[in-house]
Amino acid sequence: MSPLEHVKFSFAIAGVSRALTHQLVRHRLASYSQQSQRYVKEKDFDYIVPPTIERNPAAKAEFEKLMETIQKSYTKLLTIMGQDNVSGEMANQDARFALPQAAETKIVVTMNCRELLHFFQHRCCSRAQWEIRQLADKMLDICRQALPVVFSTGGAKCAALGYCPEGEKFCCGRYPLKP
Ligand SMILES: Cc1cc2nc3c(=O)[nH]c(=O)nc-3n(C[C@H](O)[C@H](O)[C@H](O)COP(=O)(O)OP(=O)(O)OC[C@H]3O[C@@H](n4cnc5c(N)ncnc54)[C@H](O)[C@@H]3O)c2cc1C
Repeated sequence: MSPLEHVKFSFAIAGVSRALTHQLVRHRLASYSQQSQRYVKEKDFDYIVPPTIERNPAAKAEFEKLMETIQKSYTKLLTIMGQDNVSGEMANQDARFALPQAAETKIVVTMNCRELLHFFQHRCCSRAQWEIRQLADKMLDICRQALPVVFSTGGAKCAALGYCPEGEKFCCGRYPLKP
């Protein structure tokens, strides 16, 4: 596998939540550059709505109310700190403690092909959280188009193994359990 370490892909990722990037950066054999919440003031921050909340009108209304409240408090905090002579950068870096995990962010990630195959094994699996799984599926599509020889059997562990190693409780049924 070591020759695969010489080939790298960089992805510019936008429209994802801080909840996603928190999971992404757990993958250590990669390089990252993320939009700063210290230097970029989150005036009218965008946020990601999870599908289970999006499709339930009552849950969506509650979620949007919460985001609006956070936005108002964040902006008020900046004003209060400004009146207290806290500099802009310092105020941003402290006010961001109030921002939610749903806040939209941007990140650039560079991974070599070996790490990408490892990343896909974990994050294309149905056990992975929905947002990072959607991202991993998109990244895999791009990799497959660019380097089919390397990525044709890439994906969740089961894709290469031909069976599911996750056990009965977690198996999604796409592949049979290990015999
Ligand atoms: C479905 C799912 C649920 C998860 N739930 C949780 C959770 O509840 N709590 C939590 O904390 N995390 C959770 N994680 C994150 C998980 O524990 C890993 O941190 C993450 O998936 C990164 O994987 P990794 O360490 O294998 O890979 P990478 O960091 O991408 O590294 C790739 C490989 O390099 C090797 N490697 C890298 N660094 C070292 C090192 N320092 N020493 C030795 N070998 C190294 C290992 O073989 C490793 O597998 C979850 C992940 C998934 C996919």
